Amino acid sequence: MMQHHSLSEHDRTAKAIRIDLHTHSNASDGTQPPGELMRVAKANGLDVIALTDHDTTAGWSDAAQAAVEVGIMLVPGIEVSTKLGPASVHVLAYLPDPEHPALIEVMERVRQGRVHRAERIVAALAADFPLTWEDVLAVSEPGATIGRPHIADALVARGIVPSRSEAFASVLHVRGKYYVPHESPHPVDAIELIAAAGAVPVLAHGGSRGAVALNEPVFTKMVAAGLAGVEIRHRENDAHAREQLANYARRWDLIVTGSSDYHGAGKPNELGENTTDPEQLTRILQAGTGTDAVNSTVVFG
Ligand code: AMP
Ligand code: ZN
Ligand code: FE
Ligand code: FE
Repeated sequence: MMQHHSLSEHDRTAKAIRIDLHTHSNASDGTQPPGELMRVAKANGLDVIALTDHDTTAGWSDAAQAAVEVGIMLVPGIEVSTKLGPASVHVLAYLPDPEHPALIEVMERVRQGRVHRAERIVAALAADFPLTWEDVLAVSEPGATIGRPHIADALVARGIVPSRSEAFASVLHVRGKYYVPHESPHPVDAIELIAAAGAVPVLAHGGSRGAVALNEPVFTKMVAAGLAGVEIRHRENDAHAREQLANYARRWDLIVTGSSDYHGAGKPNELGENTTDPEQLTRILQAGTGTDAVNSTVVFG
């Protein structure tokens, strides 16, 4: 394990360190290969990137190789899909052990469930539009965690909608007639599992999609299960949600992050549009024991 996480005086006085702890590659529903994502991040002046593909670690090795090549630090992560009743809740897991059997099993189950769910959405859409499952496979990286963005890309390829965002605003909308949810664990169970895998659980964009995770009894249970941090600066958290998250963070001394949730070309989110303070990254590195960050000397000497 890496021992040295404190910033030298040189680092503090040199240019600000830019840290983006929430990004997606085409190992899930981003549009770029993990290595390309790292190269683009370096070219955009980022110093630290966490790769947090949905329910998979498949992108880690490509990202790690590129991180070393271009001289950027990589924090390996996952964005774990969970569900509270009908509401989707996302939990970021930083530095998990990628070989942890229970974590692997849950991720495999969620990815399988996502495929079945996407097939059902496509079957429903096929009644009204010329769309097939082969169209979805044609726009997906083999083995990628399948989501609505892949269906959106297939709709775009067929000329049915002009863009991913227009697809999400219309036929793929969560309250639209074609929507089908997918199976995923309860957030409290997921947080326990993430912690057991040596990772640092951080609630992703807690203010989005109905903000059920901000409900106080729910949030209290998540903290008791091991929730270690909250993503506050994220474009889907409005002012009210940020205030509530900041209150919770003070009350339980939680790690606070800011991130882009970059998905490449498919979403307007820009790399580094929100960033995390180095002190908060240090807390994550100290708490995470499942795997090592890659190339941390570029930041921490
Ligand atoms: P799903 O997890 O399959 O329900 O799909 C939701 C995912 O699509 C979330 O992770 C979003 O970040 C992602 N997504 C990618 N591009 C877009 C977009 N243009 N609009 C909305 N969500 C998007
Ligand atoms: Zn996504
Ligand atoms: Fe998310
Ligand atoms: Fe995300």
